[in-house]
Amino acid sequence: MLELGAVSSAMESARTILGMAKTFIQVGNSVEVNSVALDLNMKMLELLDRLQDARATESALAQKIQELERELRESEVFQSELENYLLFSPWPGAFVYARKRSLVGAQYPHYLCTNCVEGRVKSILQAVDTPKGWLNYKCPRCSLELQTGSRGGVAPYYPDEP
Ligand SMILES: [Zn+2]
Repeated sequence: MLELGAVSSAMESARTILGMAKTFIQVGNSVEVNSVALDLNMKMLELLDRLQDARATESALAQKIQELERELRESEVFQSELENYLLFSPWPGAFVYARKRSLVGAQYPHYLCTNCVEGRVKSILQAVDTPKGWLNYKCPRCSLELQTGSRGGVAPYYPDEP
């Protein structure tokens, strides 16, 4: 957790030191002068500590802002890329994100794993044969497996194909 009061705490210390400096100027007795000078030194050290804390807090906040800005940019790029896909059910009970054909320069038809898309990752489903000869589509990243209900001959196609 970031300490948000570090700057105001440092400002309070600065005000205290300023008040002590005024007192120091007004004091005539050397014993009192030494006592005030010692207090002043202690407060100066305290102020330096607080300024160091404030600087560390500021640095941590700047780093967090950069991190959030990077995440936002990545999220915007991913959302923009996802607009090239359509949520689609090629087989009963199975949902995928399918690349739209209507786009200029559309890639070869393929399906993205909905599970991975939720985590903002594009993972292309791959055809796999089951030991019993059924054709499934499986995510190489999260291992989600979708049953086509066919024994072969099922290739991805564009959902907006005529
Ligand atoms: Zn996946």
